[in-house]
Amino acid sequence: MMYKNTVNIIGAGPASLVAAIVLRKHGLAVKVFEMSPDVGYRLSGDFQGVENWSSERDVTELLGEIGIRINFLWMPYYEGTVYAPEMKPVEVKSGRPIFYLVRRGSMPGTLDWGLKEQALSLGVEIIFNHRLDNLEGKAIVGTGPKGADAVAVGITFNTKMQDKAVVVLDDNIAPKGYAYLLVKQGYATMATVLYREFKKADDYFEKMLNFFKEKMDVDIKNRKKFGGYGNFFIRDKQTRNEKIYIGEAAGFQDCLWGFGMRYSMLSGYIAAKSFIEDSDYDVLWQRELRPMLETSLINRYLFERIGHTGYRYMIKCFGKGDPAKILKKHYNPSFLKNILLPLAKRRYESRVQDLSCSREDCTCVWCRCGTKKVCP
Ligand SMILES: Cc1cc2nc3c(=O)[nH]c(=O)nc-3n(C[C@H](O)[C@H](O)[C@H](O)COP(=O)(O)OP(=O)(O)OC[C@H]3O[C@@H](n4cnc5c(N)ncnc54)[C@H](O)[C@@H]3O)c2cc1C
Repeated sequence: MMYKNTVNIIGAGPASLVAAIVLRKHGLAVKVFEMSPDVGYRLSGDFQGVENWSSERDVTELLGEIGIRINFLWMPYYEGTVYAPEMKPVEVKSGRPIFYLVRRGSMPGTLDWGLKEQALSLGVEIIFNHRLDNLEGKAIVGTGPKGADAVAVGITFNTKMQDKAVVVLDDNIAPKGYAYLLVKQGYATMATVLYREFKKADDYFEKMLNFFKEKMDVDIKNRKKFGGYGNFFIRDKQTRNEKIYIGEAAGFQDCLWGFGMRYSMLSGYIAAKSFIEDSDYDVLWQRELRPMLETSLINRYLFERIGHTGYRYMIKCFGKGDPAKILKKHYNPSFLKNILLPLAKRRYESRVQDLSCSREDCTCVWCRCGTKKVCP
């Protein structure tokens, strides 16, 4: 079938695939260009969590409303264990799913694979092994992160451990970030997420591994190491030169902890809607996403200041109350938080470069010091 107008999308991550599915369902022809041989290539079969706390609406409902079927692993987690230095682990439990477990990567069962199948079955054309850096005319750009504001390093493995979700807040293991262990039916992901000291990622990985081995009976088989990074920024406009930017390519990420999938998929939907209704994408995302992005920036600003004492206090609160409700309160704007916004923005801008970098002609994403300095 020939179509007069085809919507071109660059990148085949969750943001782009959601946009493609929604556009195709509304009768538009869609062509997706993906530089890798398949979807999910930058991920490694690791478990990730789609957060279910930033909105009253359950994220399963949200996906249904925007027209996404659940044809991938999608497992609600209502409880977990949280560790902080010098305190006993705290068991937390919620009345609603705190997050939904998904698997990411290029294999059946992953979120990426499921979205690809939905897009293909609707007639979306996906062209793999096709990197596009310049394209004339209108297009949607969902090319993922371009710089590192957070770095994750971890392993996937087979295990005899029971299903569980464990989070560790400890700057000795994950500076200003967190470490996690997710186990589902004999398969597991363990990782540390750093917001500082990226060049020491391997050291922190070893510390995290030792921590989990010491605290619980971890058996590890078929261990595969992986790494990745996340990018966060807020710009006033996400439409430039007839291109509409979505997902992490637009900086749509949870600045506090990197739970970017919800933002990515929602932005893909919003972009599709702006094409279908011929409405202003910038107005739509500013209304739907900006308050949450700004709040997550303020949350990061506060989190970087509270230290181990703050982590312990936070975890005690999670243990006494309902973690999903507590997180919802903190992930939504408030008068007090808005007062802190200018400070948080200033702080964020100042950490864009890693001034400890000393190599010339650096172009690496880890420190973003441009061509002036780098990474040994
Ligand atoms: C280790 C790790 C753990 C994470 N854990 C979580 C979690 O638990 N919860 C959560 O919500 N989020 C998590 N995230 C973040 C989440 O994975 C991202 O926010 C999300 O994948 C972003 O989706 P996207 O579609 O914007 O971009 P991506 O998923 O990055 O997709 C972009 C696609 O564009 C392609 N591409 C790039 N440039 C070009 C080009 N020039 N031409 C053609 N194709 C191109 C890439 O190959 C890629 O397939 C994690 C990220 C990492 C790295």
